Amino acid sequence: MVIVALTGGIGSGKSTVARMFQDEGAYVIDFDFLARVVVEPDKPAWRDIIDYFGPEILSPDRTLNRSALAEIVFSDDESRKALEGLTHPRIFEESDALIEAIKRKDPSSVVIIDLPLLFELSLNKKFDKIILAYVPRAVQLKRIVERDGLAKEEVEKRLNAQIPIEEKRSFSDYIIHNEGGLNDTRNQVRKVIHELEDLARKEGGDSKCC
Ligand code: ATP
Repeated sequence: MVIVALTGGIGSGKSTVARMFQDEGAYVIDFDFLARVVVEPDKPAWRDIIDYFGPEILSPDRTLNRSALAEIVFSDDESRKALEGLTHPRIFEESDALIEAIKRKDPSSVVIIDLPLLFELSLNKKFDKIILAYVPRAVQLKRIVERDGLAKEEVEKRLNAQIPIEEKRSFSDYIIHNEGGLNDTRNQVRKVIHELEDLARKEGGDSKCC
C-alpha cells in the first residue's frame, strides 16, 4: 500500500485531480470532508470547541457557525492553533480508521489523501509520496474569482495566507500541471497512478504512513 498526500493551493485543482485519481482506481480520503464530520453536533470535537469558544459560536440549528469561527481564527493565531488542536487528532483518527479498513480489503492499494494545507501544517513527512496539483498563481486567482464570485482582492488575501505554490513545487514528488485542459491533466494523472500502483505492489502492506 502507498499513502500519498495530494495538495496544492486554493483553486489549483485538488478536487478535480482527486476525482481523476478516484476514476483511475485509487482510494481517496478528503480531509476537508473529515474536518466537517468530526465537528458534527454532539461529537467530542464539537463539545470541546463550544467549551473553548463559547456557545455563541453555534448556529440556531446547533451546527458550528463556520463563518463566525473562521473570522475568529483567521485573525488570531492562538485561536487557530487551539481549533487545530481540538480537530486535527480527531481527523487523523478518522482517516487512520479508513486507511486500516482499506488495507484489510486491498493491501496493495493506492490511497490518496486530499490535504490542502499539507505543508502549512508540516505534515509532509507522514506520507510516502506527495503530489502537487499545480497552476501558476495568476490561474489560481482567475479560477477562484470565476468559481466563487469573490472579489480579486479577497482572493489575493487568501492566497497570501498560504505558502506560495511555487515554493511547494520543490517539496513534491509529482507535479500535476493543471493549467491546461482537463484531458491533459487526466493524462498526467494516469501516468502517476501507474507509477504509484507499481510502488504499491512492491511495498505490499508496508507504508511509513499512519
Ligand atoms: P479549493 O482550494 O477551493 O478546494 P481546488 O484546489 O480543489 O479548490 P478545484 O475546485 O478542483 O480546485 O478547481 C478550481 C476551479 O477551477 C473549479 O471551478 C474547477 O472546475 C476549475 N478547473 C479545475 N481544473 C481545471 C482545468 N484543467 N481547466 C479549467 N478549469 C479547471
